[in-house]
Amino acid sequence: MARRVAIVGAGVLGLACARELAAAGDVDVTVVERSYPGAGSTSLSVGVFTRQYLTAEDIDIRVRGVAALAELEASAGLNLRRIGLLRPARDAPTLERCAEAVALQRERGVDDAEVLDPAGVRALVPGFDAAGVVGGIWCPSDGYLDGAELCSLLAEAAQEAGARIHGRTRVTGLRRGGAGARYTLATDRGDVAADVVVNAAGAWAGAVGDLLDAPVGVVNERHEAYSFELPESRPAATIPMVLDYVPGSGAGEGLYFRQEGHGQLIAGLHSNEPLGEPVDDPDDYFRGAGDEAAERVVELLAAALPGIDGIGYRGGWSGLYPHSPDGGLVAGPHPANPDVIVAGGLGGNGLSVALPLGRTVAEWIRHGEPRSLPAAERLVPRPAVVAG
Ligand SMILES: Cc1cc2nc3c(=O)[nH]c(=O)nc-3n(C[C@H](O)[C@H](O)[C@H](O)COP(=O)(O)OP(=O)(O)OC[C@H]3O[C@@H](n4cnc5c(N)ncnc54)[C@H](O)[C@@H]3O)c2cc1C
Repeated sequence: MARRVAIVGAGVLGLACARELAAAGDVDVTVVERSYPGAGSTSLSVGVFTRQYLTAEDIDIRVRGVAALAELEASAGLNLRRIGLLRPARDAPTLERCAEAVALQRERGVDDAEVLDPAGVRALVPGFDAAGVVGGIWCPSDGYLDGAELCSLLAEAAQEAGARIHGRTRVTGLRRGGAGARYTLATDRGDVAADVVVNAAGAWAGAVGDLLDAPVGVVNERHEAYSFELPESRPAATIPMVLDYVPGSGAGEGLYFRQEGHGQLIAGLHSNEPLGEPVDDPDDYFRGAGDEAAERVVELLAAALPGIDGIGYRGGWSGLYPHSPDGGLVAGPHPANPDVIVAGGLGGNGLSVALPLGRTVAEWIRHGEPRSLPAAERLVPRPAVVAG
């Protein structure tokens, strides 16, 4: 009998694990999702995928992640809107780091990543106020996708390869022993036999970790995203994704905006580090957009795009960035019980990294070690992550 793997959570990460494991063909895969695939953070995301990061580790995983998304585009028709992504640099040391990042990306085959000078930035983003911008890092083949569509295609591929996905099924506990497997995963719709359990519950990973007797900490940060209408007189050129935030620059958070379709703009504030007050209960937070926060983004957007008159605010929504306590990605066996694999820490960047991280989780389960991602041992649950 093949080993049985139960995955808790059908967000982008749980489904990436499921597809990878089912495709390998040597384990039996069941996904348990309390709602429907993508119902958590994934379908609330703004959908950006990018390789525009600064360290080799951050770039390695994203180069693999975006390549895996492109494979899904070719095999299953995933819509990748390659509108490009620009990170403006506002001082010389940051621009220098951007140039090093472009070299790292090119070494890894991202041939269209480049460093722009201020004139290049101005030419690229219609209406943009580039005062104070000393250049930027740009890649035209980055862009955005729809998180719900990605989940639905991953679920379909996992099921075609033999995985079962139980929607509207909430995990309630784990006990040792049971029907022909090492454990019984209890749910509100019956038991699931499992030899290995993956905690891919995103913002709920803390609660699920307690149910599995394998505690993990998660720092859930509420983020709002806003939708705007572009005026009829808008520029003919598409506004690419502009992410005015450079990880590690000490800037806290930065404004981002990108065009959506023909006449819409999506904007918000992003940071890779947890900054604000974490949300205690992922089932109890304000799902809308606060007036004051929205007003701030309206002002920042008007200042960033003075060349486009009459951008109209429409409304917004909010969701959670599920950060790990130390801000890093997590993939590996739990020290208290190696039959529980922890997969998470996606924060505000999950879409670019979930597929290679899912592969790493599958490698831990099938081979007892990570194989494809360089230096993936560092992603095992650290003391700061399992402190609960
Ligand atoms: C406003 C906003 C904008 C964002 N923009 C971007 C972006 O542009 N690009 C990007 O890469 N990332 C973005 N993100 C971040 C991205 O959404 C996350 O990194 C990613 O979706 C996390 O995926 P996940 O699979 O870990 O979690 P989730 O998608 O939340 O999946 C976890 C699943 O576990 C299920 N679950 C929980 N408890 C149980 C239980 N007891 N039993 C069974 N199932 C359970 C939940 O229902 C959920 O479906 C954004 C996030 C927000 C909020």
